Amino acid sequence: MNSNFIPISKPSITQLEIDYVTDAITSTWVSSLGPYIDRFEAEFAKFCGTKHAVAVSNGTVAIHLAVHALNIGKGDEVIMPNLSFIATANAVMLTGAKPVFTDIDPFNLCIDPAKIEALITPRTKAIMPVHLYGHPADMRAINAIAEKHSLMVIEDAAEAHGASIDDKKVGSWGRCATFSFYGNKNLTTGEGGMITTDDDNFAAKCRYLRDHAMSKEKRYWHTTMGFNYRMTNIQAALGCAQLERVEELMRKRQFVFDLYQNEFSSSDKIKLNRTSSWAHNSYWLVCAEIEGYTEAMRDELMLKLKDKNIDSRPYFYPMSMMPYISEKVDTPVTYSVYKNGINLPSYVDLTEDEIVYISKTLLSLV
Ligand SMILES: *Cc1c(COP(=O)(O)O)cnc(C)c1O
Repeated sequence: MNSNFIPISKPSITQLEIDYVTDAITSTWVSSLGPYIDRFEAEFAKFCGTKHAVAVSNGTVAIHLAVHALNIGKGDEVIMPNLSFIATANAVMLTGAKPVFTDIDPFNLCIDPAKIEALITPRTKAIMPVHLYGHPADMRAINAIAEKHSLMVIEDAAEAHGASIDDKKVGSWGRCATFSFYGNKNLTTGEGGMITTDDDNFAAKCRYLRDHAMSKEKRYWHTTMGFNYRMTNIQAALGCAQLERVEELMRKRQFVFDLYQNEFSSSDKIKLNRTSSWAHNSYWLVCAEIEGYTEAMRDELMLKLKDKNIDSRPYFYPMSMMPYISEKVDTPVTYSVYKNGINLPSYVDLTEDEIVYISKTLLSLV
């Protein structure tokens, strides 16, 4: 790969990250005990406005652990948007529960609350909104439906650290929420995840289950089947540094998006992320939808961009289409929107010149 290639994503690593990680290794606390774990959990909870945050090994197991700890499993159904990264469905399926796919709002690409109620059955246990590409789902409407039908709400906030509705951050709206700190997410720990909640008992249960459900009174005695879903102190050190810089990182993501928006504002062929009036977007990925494009045209466009040293990626495919799920569901918006959407390079160290180059190149190709 040549040095001019502009990747889709790149973490922002400064001397602070290097210092904290070096400190963690030097201290010899390299596994899942150590001061950075406690600090990262406490500071992340504070950032989200929740009582608890439980650090785990990645965002996928965060979902699995949360769903499992809420006693959701075989015979149960969880309603989720059809457009998401596959981990949302897989982690639920791993518990034995069935994902029930619903449609999205074409404006903000998140679950459409108006489509939820028709899918509720006696087996429905929870609604799992996804804050897609950094845009918060309509949590007020979702929580109202959940309350009416006595359902739990689990936010998949993997892509939206810092996004909010009014001043209330994602991660604090549901019974619990899950985050990812994968290398391309808004905050990273390399690999990592978090569960946030206000529920004392649920948080304690998650901590217990992530550590093989080992009895506190009797070592190597396990009262139920648990997991090793622990985060390491080294990962948490990286997370502490990122969290210290979170306001800067969020400001820069907004700045990057604004520069793109400026370049595309007069195009009637391409529209970028839309943000609902009640939402504060954390702009994980810049989304570009190309009017009238088919899947084949989109794939060809991405190859042409690559020739010009610009990385891009397609929107997620509807999860219901995956061969091991292969379900026809009534989600027309999802089935149409995924075909002409791509994500453009989105990271805080992109220069203004690069953004102008990417935008002008894309506009010249459509
Ligand atoms: C990234 C992501 C996950 C999974 O996180 P990992 O840390 O990669 O396991 C889950 N859900 C969504 C919506 C994601 O984007």
